[in-house]
Amino acid sequence: VASKETLGFKTEVKQLLHLMIHSLYSNKEIFLRELISNASDACDKLRFEALQNDALFEGQSELAVHIDFDADARTITIEDNGIGMNRDDVINHLGTIAKSGTAEFLSKLSGDQKKDSQLIGQFGVGFYSAFIVADKVTVETRRAGEAADTGVRWESAGEGEFSIESIDKADRGTRITLHLKAEESEFADSWRLRSLIKKYSDHIAIPVFLPQEAGEGEDGETKQMPEAVNQAKALWTRSKSELKDEDYQEFYKHISHDWTDPLLWMHNRVEGKLDYTSLLYIPAKAPFDLWNRDKSRGLKLYVQRVFIMDDAEQFLPLYLRFVKGVLDSNDLSLNVSREILQQDKQVETLRSALVKRVLDSLEKLARDDSDKYQSFWEEFGEVMKEGPAEDFANKEKIAALFRFATSKSEGEKQIVSLDDYVARMREGQKKIYYITADSHAAASGSPHIEYFNKKGVEVLLLTDRVDEWMVGHLSEFKGKHFQDITKGELDLDDLADEAEKAQQKELEETHKQLVERMQNVLVEVNTVRVSSRLTDSPACMVVGQFDMGGHMRRLLEAAGQ
Ligand code: ADP
Ligand code: MG
Repeated sequence: VASKETLGFKTEVKQLLHLMIHSLYSNKEIFLRELISNASDACDKLRFEALQNDALFEGQSELAVHIDFDADARTITIEDNGIGMNRDDVINHLGTIAKSGTAEFLSKLSGDQKKDSQLIGQFGVGFYSAFIVADKVTVETRRAGEAADTGVRWESAGEGEFSIESIDKADRGTRITLHLKAEESEFADSWRLRSLIKKYSDHIAIPVFLPQEAGEGEDGETKQMPEAVNQAKALWTRSKSELKDEDYQEFYKHISHDWTDPLLWMHNRVEGKLDYTSLLYIPAKAPFDLWNRDKSRGLKLYVQRVFIMDDAEQFLPLYLRFVKGVLDSNDLSLNVSREILQQDKQVETLRSALVKRVLDSLEKLARDDSDKYQSFWEEFGEVMKEGPAEDFANKEKIAALFRFATSKSEGEKQIVSLDDYVARMREGQKKIYYITADSHAAASGSPHIEYFNKKGVEVLLLTDRVDEWMVGHLSEFKGKHFQDITKGELDLDDLADEAEKAQQKELEETHKQLVERMQNVLVEVNTVRVSSRLTDSPACMVVGQFDMGGHMRRLLEAAGQ
């Protein structure tokens, strides 16, 4: 029964649509990239499912995208013979259930158009970008392997509701028709479409066809046989030398749903014991949901050029969860599943190779382009700090990538590496000194730091929430132990000169009685002693080496000092 139903978009979808249409007007043309990207994903999915069930090809295994247009009717159609959708798929994917994280995303919006349009770029605009140029969108689709009469037509003007009805569709796959707004009629043009496909979709692994341009003759109206406009070769299988930066950048946008250009990429073909190609990207901007535990992460996994799964998280540790990319293995089986990946020994080997590659590239970036590295650190430094705890084997390598604000660096920026610190250590200094606090001002203004300033000894000012935990796991760098300057006995003797040592002795003698009296009064305090830690403040509280730091200490300070 081909009943036609009208359903409402979920509230979030409505908001998203509104936002998109209003913030992307200077970037309209991306609709084509998004729709071709979806068509390509649909073909990937079909090829994957057909590994188990060849019948899904329905005798036609040459996958392709066909684009056509009608200037008079002001329409563009994008048609693929990929996996297609059934009624439930359509309702779920194109209307009622918004992408996970949509509500969270919307709550982050500031109302400032410029900022919001950047955010929406990271969120990924996807299918709905069709409404940037169209005032009506028709989707006709049928899932591979299902009967012709299970086809579905979805239609919407993007204003709160959509209709859905059953249709007969002989060919599997999805055909999307954009009814262009009057002012967007320029897109229904062969030359325009061709250049957009070239620009945005050259890297798509399946051919994208367009009716051939009319020949030299003047009767330019007649359309000819379609021809493939793009390279139609998986980008990572092409050699580095034939790829331009723009190719890599466009491919990044296809796989990441982020349309800010990436910061850097690593493209490697490895043969030998392991046989694989990897193309890894470091984004320029942290995604809005970097700290969301449920956020999908991981690489796109291919086996012998066949797409297997999105978000294969087994190949990278959590502290590198911002890395995006593709892994194409020739060793893994085409039948590989998430469960198998969790146990496969090769995965471990692949993972350490990829981690090494990322860490080495970051190291190189830090060496070659410190500004660029600094911008990476500002976006992802806090995540990297989870590294020493998660990846013990690489902890020294990871720590070398860290940057800190210190008592000697200017402002709050985290710019000092541990190597810098160690190189600047004073004669006689054996440890890396640090202080943790809630803010830079609290750290740099702490009375504990006075002596170090006077002696010209640098102190790391740690103010990120992961810092105390991170230092605990790091414990040393290049043989130098980390020392919290608010904890326990500091071996400052090595930093003191002879005169200071003599003075300290003398002070201890002359203040013996005072110390005893104070100790009797301050029964809660373990030991009262004369200290060389202070220069300007009269007294400070010190926590034992193995006592609780951080919050406990601040609570005590608030209560008594
Ligand atoms: P994304 O591609 O990030 O998943 P989109 O908004 O682009 O988000 O698409 C939403 C969903 O709609 C896709 O995940 C897919 O399930 C479905 N979809 C969109 N276009 C097609 C298509 N051409 N063929 C099959 N399914 C599609
Ligand atoms: Mg998409």
